[in-house]
Amino acid sequence: MQVCPIKVASRAAKGFVAAVCIIILVLEAWTSWHERSTEMDESFRATANMALALSQHADQALDEVDIVLKAVMEQVQDKRLATTDDERLHNFLVRNVSEVPQLAGLFVYDEKGRWIASSQPVLETRFNNSDRDYFQHHQAHRADTTFIGKPIRSKSTGHWVLTMSRRVSKPDGSFGGVVLATLDIQFFERFYRKFDIGQQGAILFGSNDGTVLYRRPLLADSMGKSLAQSPLFQQHIKVQEAGAVESRSTQDGILRIHGFKHLANYPLFVIVAVSEDEVLHGWARHAIVRGVGIIVLLLAICYGGTRMVAQVSLRERAQADAVRAQAELEAMFELLQTQSRRDGLTGAINRRHFDELLEAEAARFARVGGAFSLLMIDVDHFKQYNDRYGHVVGDVCLKNIAAAISGAVQREIDTVARYGGEEFSVLLPECGSAGALVVAERIEAAVRARAIPHASSVEGTVTVSIGITSITSDEGFSYLPRELIESADKALYQAKEAGRGRAVYREFPVRKPKLAWSA
Ligand code: GH3
Ligand code: MG
Ligand code: MG
Repeated sequence: MQVCPIKVASRAAKGFVAAVCIIILVLEAWTSWHERSTEMDESFRATANMALALSQHADQALDEVDIVLKAVMEQVQDKRLATTDDERLHNFLVRNVSEVPQLAGLFVYDEKGRWIASSQPVLETRFNNSDRDYFQHHQAHRADTTFIGKPIRSKSTGHWVLTMSRRVSKPDGSFGGVVLATLDIQFFERFYRKFDIGQQGAILFGSNDGTVLYRRPLLADSMGKSLAQSPLFQQHIKVQEAGAVESRSTQDGILRIHGFKHLANYPLFVIVAVSEDEVLHGWARHAIVRGVGIIVLLLAICYGGTRMVAQVSLRERAQADAVRAQAELEAMFELLQTQSRRDGLTGAINRRHFDELLEAEAARFARVGGAFSLLMIDVDHFKQYNDRYGHVVGDVCLKNIAAAISGAVQREIDTVARYGGEEFSVLLPECGSAGALVVAERIEAAVRARAIPHASSVEGTVTVSIGITSITSDEGFSYLPRELIESADKALYQAKEAGRGRAVYREFPVRKPKLAWSA
């Protein structure tokens, strides 16, 4: 199947436009996705780093409190401050609380949970703290380590506080009471407020059993709440020292990036979480602006492309039209040229073209010599034929005779021409007198064989008379075409004279060229 070149060009142009659009779309999608990934990676790194910084801050804050706790514990144990010496112990506690900003209060309880000393202005004696978890912990464990309890509301102030406590042992190692430090939750809050975590972000401070010690923002049920069963805690915080993960909150359904880090010295951890929506907000806005730009660009390309396709189609069609027109012109020219060389009635070569061919043959002969013949054929008594049968039948007769002559001439190089009126001529290149005579007699017989009735002729049918002239010479001899025609005409005249319906041969008188040295 042949494919139309116009359609091929249009299709190629359409394909090009489509390919450009697809490449732009793919590149844009890839760039956008890459930017989103970079943004996310950046958030993972930032939350992890912030969690590291907050964990170090918490470690340091707790270390400072622990040093104070140790000092109080040692003093109580060494009995350097006697339990009865309330004033000195009280002053020691008050001084430490004022010097360490995260400290809200310091308390000393005896083995029954009774208040022995506190940093408060007046020692409360109406409370008993033996029901607190830190008290029960130290009562049950002999270990000389710091215990961090669940966040509690202070019995004296009613504020949320974190507790750090140490065991006081009697000289025999038995339980002698507890030294307790309460940490002001606002200390952490003031510090955490400095960090930009967005509207939906969160900072969480928790203990390794999953208990929330502090959360920013502080929700009604945040303090002391357990995260132990959450997937985030179970799959990541419980098993990894530090990391950054993305997870959806079971509470508010917000997808957040969580950076977390365990404290180096205490069984606690810090989480810094930022909302994915907020992290990607800038990117999304940028992507929308670029998307609109890309859509406008693609529309422009499509518009330009459509116009380009139309232009290509138009140009191709114009080219095809031009090619077709040129082919038609060439065919017409060919036809005209053929027609201009042929006789309209008989289809034989016309007189003008015959003269050209004769001229060319004369030139060729002058160069290479050889043999050459010319026949002049005249229809006998044709005037009478016309008179009897009419001009139209006369024309048909001439066509008939032309066909008979053409049929009798067999070689490709021979030319049959209508020389004028009812006269024909035949050019026989490379043909001597013997051959010419044979051809002439064949023509005469062919016309006679057609048996075209001619009642005004003694023969009863149309006959032709033929004058033959031939020229045979070596190279260098020449003749004038006019001379050859005159010679053939003379032979024709002789044929007419001799009674018509025959062929007569006449030798052409060859003119020898003059030699250069002859006078
Ligand atoms: P001759 O045997 O001596 O040749 O006698 P003729 O009658 O053929 O002599 P002539 O040459 O005087 O007559 C030629 C005639 O041919 C004259 C003209 O009527 C006729 N003729 C010439 N051209 C055409 C033509 O195209 N069509 C027809 N029908 N007749 C033509
Ligand atoms: Mg004539
Ligand atoms: Mg005649």
